[in-house]
Amino acid sequence: MAHYEISVIPGDGIGPEVVQAARAVLDQGMESFGYSLGYTDYDFSADLYRRTGRKITEEDMDEIGKTDAVLFGAMGLPDVRDPEGLELGAQVEMRAHYKLFASLRPARLFAGVNSAVKAKNVDMLVIRETSEGMFAGLHDEHAPSNNEATDRMTITRATSEKLFDVAFEQARARKKRGTPGRVTLLHKSNALRSNVLLEKVFDEVAARHSDIESNKFYIDAGAMYMVTDPGRFDVIVSENIFGDITSEIAAGLIGGLGLAPSADVSAQHGVFQPSHGSAPDIAGAGVANPIAMILSAAMMLDWLGQKNGDGQLIAAARGINAAVEQVLASGPQPTDLGGTASAQEVTEAVLDAVRSIAHVPAAVKA
Ligand code: ATP
Repeated sequence: MAHYEISVIPGDGIGPEVVQAARAVLDQGMESFGYSLGYTDYDFSADLYRRTGRKITEEDMDEIGKTDAVLFGAMGLPDVRDPEGLELGAQVEMRAHYKLFASLRPARLFAGVNSAVKAKNVDMLVIRETSEGMFAGLHDEHAPSNNEATDRMTITRATSEKLFDVAFEQARARKKRGTPGRVTLLHKSNALRSNVLLEKVFDEVAARHSDIESNKFYIDAGAMYMVTDPGRFDVIVSENIFGDITSEIAAGLIGGLGLAPSADVSAQHGVFQPSHGSAPDIAGAGVANPIAMILSAAMMLDWLGQKNGDGQLIAAARGINAAVEQVLASGPQPTDLGGTASAQEVTEAVLDAVRSIAHVPAAVKA
């Protein structure tokens, strides 16, 4: 049985609560599906920074980068800021350190969950670029001023080509389970020079993947279509800030942030975390929906499985997804979806479902 080492960073607020739930599901998965994970815990958080001034360093990230994947809860507290006034989040530093350029954010409307829009079929993957775009100037030298402040949008051909290749590969992989096989670029090439290049590179990469459909919308129109006609989208790809906003629109369509997983990846490294933040307003109340984190852990198993050709991990990821599907269809429902179940009750129900799914004979599962 193959063994994988996982670095775990629970972080702040509800981060540790949802990570505990995901760990319980991963542990049950080891028993039920037969894979082996070892964990190393790291206590990096905004809270640690506030207490001791300690932040994640390049050396820490080198050490963490030797493990197979990172499971990350949520980091940042509204009142803990760095000297520039920005919220603290090791996820941003890890994206830069590991050169993670694509954040994969699936959004699927599960049976049993009400969408805020009139949508029957939402099954999309938003891919947000995370290394340049509107955040390219984050580390630019600048003189702090009360009168003027500038950010910068930069698009490079090299990153865009890699990003679009990931988008078409994902669309191809998803097509095998019945999605249309279509990549949509959301951009603003009518007003931003950087996006003229983005669109040009997209057209070139699309031509190399002619088995997959492609289309494009301006981000403003695309945002409207996501709400009025979400069924038309399969894989959506966009630059950093448009992708950030788009993925939260997608989360809104499928019941909210409590159901929205994400994976920040390059070919070598992967950091898996829910799309939501540390939610300090509900931290400690025992009501955080653990499903986004559990689905992120399943994405980690799938990514490790695809990367290492390990079918057992891929099957386990599928099993955990099916368990979540079962719990959302039949309850108990977490409070953010209008139910009354605690995080603990939802987690227990997912664990029961994993156990029952793993005991279905392989022929039936297929
Ligand atoms: P960030 O900028 O770090 O992503 P944010 O400011 O967007 O964070 P979140 O922490 O994601 O905010 O929370 C936004 C809202 O969603 C809050 O009201 C929070 O309680 C709710 N929320 C987020 N995650 C969950 C969850 N897992 N379960 C229930 N409610 C959640």
